[in-house]
Amino acid sequence: MRGSFKLGKIAGIEIGIHYTWIFAFILFAWLFAGNTLPTLFPNWSVYAYWGAGVIIALMIFVSVLIHEICHSLVATSRGLKVRSIVLFIFGGVSNIETEPKSAWEEFLMAGAGPASSFVIAGILALIAYILYLPGNVFVDFFINSSRVTPVIVVIFYIGSVNLALAIFNIIPGFPLDGGRVFRAIIWGITKNLTKATVIAGNVGRFFGWAMILYGISNLFGISIGGVQGNFLNGIWLIFIGWFLISAADSAIREQSLQQQLAGVRVKDVMDQSPECVVPGASVEYVVHNAFIQRGRKALPICNENGLLGIVTLADVKRVPQDRWSNTSVQEIMTAKPLETVDQEDDLNGALRTLAMKDLNQIPVMGEGKLVGLLSRSDVIRYLQTRQELGIKPGQSIRKTG
Ligand SMILES: [Zn+2]
Repeated sequence: MRGSFKLGKIAGIEIGIHYTWIFAFILFAWLFAGNTLPTLFPNWSVYAYWGAGVIIALMIFVSVLIHEICHSLVATSRGLKVRSIVLFIFGGVSNIETEPKSAWEEFLMAGAGPASSFVIAGILALIAYILYLPGNVFVDFFINSSRVTPVIVVIFYIGSVNLALAIFNIIPGFPLDGGRVFRAIIWGITKNLTKATVIAGNVGRFFGWAMILYGISNLFGISIGGVQGNFLNGIWLIFIGWFLISAADSAIREQSLQQQLAGVRVKDVMDQSPECVVPGASVEYVVHNAFIQRGRKALPICNENGLLGIVTLADVKRVPQDRWSNTSVQEIMTAKPLETVDQEDDLNGALRTLAMKDLNQIPVMGEGKLVGLLSRSDVIRYLQTRQELGIKPGQSIRKTG
């Protein structure tokens, strides 16, 4: 995900934090320390409010992380490759490189997250309750007389966060976990993944809109079912609703794209004649002869031994124009080890690689040699041509002979 930084690795999975998560962290710590805790427990010290607030905010992060790790561990145990987990303002995303192969696999993977959150919530509720019981040695010894201590409150809230995480995620709207479970069930019954995605995605849209409407009623302080509307909750609900709708939209779009590209190989779509440029060529030469005159956006750089690297518009933009004539493309190219795909790879897999690595184009190899270049615009052009010619999804337009 763009705008995220790496935190480290857990069980071989890269953990990243998106900058929006920082806002969520500060917001939660501030809400607890400055508002919720002082209102509920007026006689704590300022240190207790902020200590508890920061710990609760951090533990929200740990809870989301554990939830995502559980999804990922089920995925890896089923042989799927998990690339990374990124935490952002609305929770976490696991970037799984391969799609689940069966309805059952998706069911297990999606169910693992909420199940783990439920279990953690239950355990923490039990611990908070045991600590709270009269005559508890731990409370009397460490925390003194008052029964509701900051420690119990923190444990209680972390438990509540896990419960909320579980409940929010089992809403049956795709792409939430509950929606994935729901999609897996329809997929299992109908054996049609596209149909299942459209149904589950539409349910996701419905919940998104419901959240937005509920959020708007909160903004105006309207009470629903005896619960008084709250401005901040309103904003939060509207944002989550909007996020849910856009995620459902893109899931449906992606599924229909995947269906249209099913069975298409990289070599059917790629640019087969990406003329190679020698490493010593100047940036100016490439800009004028390839980028401007022929409308290319990327060029492979090769010598007699084969592919050395790739130079793109983005690489050129980093060099001041007055240095174009005396800078060689070798100095600015993205060099080996390069991401590549094979010409026999299926296009859906190659597109997933482009998206995961955040690339616009990728060199295509065949028997160890460069045979083409695949870019996102090639795929768009391919889809437009198909549509213009009225070729239906699943119908092949592969060359004969
Ligand atoms: Zn989840």
